Amino acid sequence: MARMVIRNVAVLLVPELGECRVDEAQDIHVQDDLIVATTPTGSQPHVGHTRGTPDGESSGAPVGHVGGVPAGETGGAPAGQAGGGPGGRARGGSGGGPAGHADGAPGGRAGGGLVEVVEGGGLLAVAGLVNSHTHSPMVMMRGAAEDLAIEDWFNRRVWPMEVNLTPGRVRVGARLACGEMLLGGVTTFVDHYFHADQIAAAAVEAGIRADLAPTYFSSTEQDVSAAFDVSRELRGVHPRITARLGPHATYTVNDDDLRRAADIARAEGFRIHLHAAETDEQTQASVDKHGVTPVQVLERTGVLDAGALIAHGCGIREADLAILERYADRTAVASCPKVYLKLAMGEVTPIKGLLEAGVSVGVGTDGAAVHNTLDVWEAIRMVALTQKQREQDAEWMSLSDTLRLATRGSAAAAGLAGRVGVLEPGYQADIALVDLSAPHNQPLHDPRAALVYSVRAADVVTVLVAGEVVVRDRELTTMDLQEVLADARSLAHTLVDLSAGGAIQHYNP
Ligand SMILES: [Zn+2]
Repeated sequence: MARMVIRNVAVLLVPELGECRVDEAQDIHVQDDLIVATTPTGSQPHVGHTRGTPDGESSGAPVGHVGGVPAGETGGAPAGQAGGGPGGRARGGSGGGPAGHADGAPGGRAGGGLVEVVEGGGLLAVAGLVNSHTHSPMVMMRGAAEDLAIEDWFNRRVWPMEVNLTPGRVRVGARLACGEMLLGGVTTFVDHYFHADQIAAAAVEAGIRADLAPTYFSSTEQDVSAAFDVSRELRGVHPRITARLGPHATYTVNDDDLRRAADIARAEGFRIHLHAAETDEQTQASVDKHGVTPVQVLERTGVLDAGALIAHGCGIREADLAILERYADRTAVASCPKVYLKLAMGEVTPIKGLLEAGVSVGVGTDGAAVHNTLDVWEAIRMVALTQKQREQDAEWMSLSDTLRLATRGSAAAAGLAGRVGVLEPGYQADIALVDLSAPHNQPLHDPRAALVYSVRAADVVTVLVAGEVVVRDRELTTMDLQEVLADARSLAHTLVDLSAGGAIQHYNP
């Protein structure tokens, strides 16, 4: 069993309700892919409990179990006590062990072996971020579709450029995206794109967690069936990969094909990830053409019943909220507000109404062809700012509300509630260690304020996914970043070349 202790970190704790807080001087104990305990630095872990957290608070998580072993059988061994002494002497510790490792617990009651120690002094541990809606390979079009309204963005740039997609180009873009996200503390991304098998391969290589929805339009029967088959194949690829069905949108996939997706989703246990009600203009167009809002389309085709992640939803109307409330236990909305500002879409996601209806809301970037970065910190900040402005209420979307949305909300949007997004025993060890010592975060009156309003992706020092260190000292451990960048630069021109003409789709909602 692989054991690790992240020693002497501050830990951000995000309860389901109420104020978030930061506990100083904690050790996070990790066994294999799971967090098994958080204890004051140097003290012994009591597996199954988190200091200061009431029992059972992390409902849904397998609290008290470690890799299938009932609590207690791991014996509360003092993981990570290099030479038995607290106080940060672990580095290069016990004789014979590799640097950064210390001999395991005395007596080997926890299975013996080495305990890797990650020194976290001066760092803040947060749950790895979740990018709850993106199209990762679109990093290849970063900066290639600027100063355009949504119609021209689709029709003059993006859909003509996507004629150039090939499996190999998607793979190169996805590798770059995975590298960018991991370096910024993003440990899960919820993707919606073509050639999703290539994105899965890149994610497995990078060591990131991914929920993938192979995307299709109602163009040809072949495309639709092939996309469903890719979703099925992705299920068995890797434990960190989950799959959904990915109809593009209510305005590019007809009701029959949405109904078919809903039927397959219910029969085979998938959920659905799609764009709907992106703007109020789209909602009005749907009402004018079909007599129903996009949310009503999702209901009548069975998509809401099957369980849906709705991207954007800025055009969700008051009457739609009552519909969504009926499916709240399986519905989530991803908000990506930088995109709404940049495309001058007029509205942002009605998060307050959605939360009141019991619908989960996550934070995403959308693709970098419009967001320009896959920096979820930037997206989190934009959510706080745009929601305060939308509600004309500076007290709304407080620091705690925002951090809850970015962690628990985004985990729910990813379909991973109870597994990621929380630093408590039983959750996956998806952890970002953030250095808040740079001038833009200092002096540090409230680390929660730094996380929402001043932190930068480059402040992330160390990242774990499923207990594996994938970023160490601000460098990827899984991929050669220079090679990833060189590949992307060498192919970038092929993606933005419009000389072939044509487009994969036309925007006319
Ligand atoms: Zn999107």
